[in-house]
Amino acid sequence: MEIAPGIHQVDGVNGNCFIIVRDDLTLIDTGMPKNSAKIVSYIQDILKRKPTDIKTIVLTHFHIDHVGDAGDLKKLSGAKVAIHEADADYVSGRKAQPAPGGVKGLIFKILIPLLFGSRTVEPDITLNDGDIIAGLTTIHTPGHTPGSICLFDPSSKILFVGDLLRFNGSKIEMGPSSLDTSEVQQSIKKIAAIDFDIMLSGHGVPLRPDASVKVREFAKSLP
Ligand SMILES: [Zn+2]
Ligand SMILES: [Zn+2]
Repeated sequence: MEIAPGIHQVDGVNGNCFIIVRDDLTLIDTGMPKNSAKIVSYIQDILKRKPTDIKTIVLTHFHIDHVGDAGDLKKLSGAKVAIHEADADYVSGRKAQPAPGGVKGLIFKILIPLLFGSRTVEPDITLNDGDIIAGLTTIHTPGHTPGSICLFDPSSKILFVGDLLRFNGSKIEMGPSSLDTSEVQQSIKKIAAIDFDIMLSGHGVPLRPDASVKVREFAKSLP
């Protein structure tokens, strides 16, 4: 579905996958593994474009429900994969991925690899705070993972927040399974300083209008 002019979301991939449609296509996250066919058919059937029009795949962080089939999509499109420097070694498989404690940690460490195998992808571009990628400004918002990022599109005033925050249709909440909650809170305060109309998160539904006003209110409620 088209969320705003030129900003699309591919439904049913279990971690939101967004496509920015301009001269080139930019993907933001690619959902869970085994969904590349769904993304490709959206591009061909709905957008009437070619998969090779994907020039950039930006990953908001290294979690499997965001990286999904980025490796396959990179292969079939020739796109460059970008991720923050601090998550690059986890997505490439050079370092073991840090997982939250308790039962959730066991799901990350044992169940997901069992179901999906290793889903690594070699990043082509490593991002840092303030970098511009495909017209989007990178904002380093660590806490959920060390290299979690938000991406701001100044032309549409949309902020893509990955798993930093989510909107479930009635309230804003922090993304679950974060590695460092106090760092997450600092990161939310960081994005509360930006003016944006629409917040698009890795799960949940779009928050609009006046998304930044609502995020600012939420940030005030944090310790
Ligand atoms: Zn995540
Ligand atoms: Zn997620």
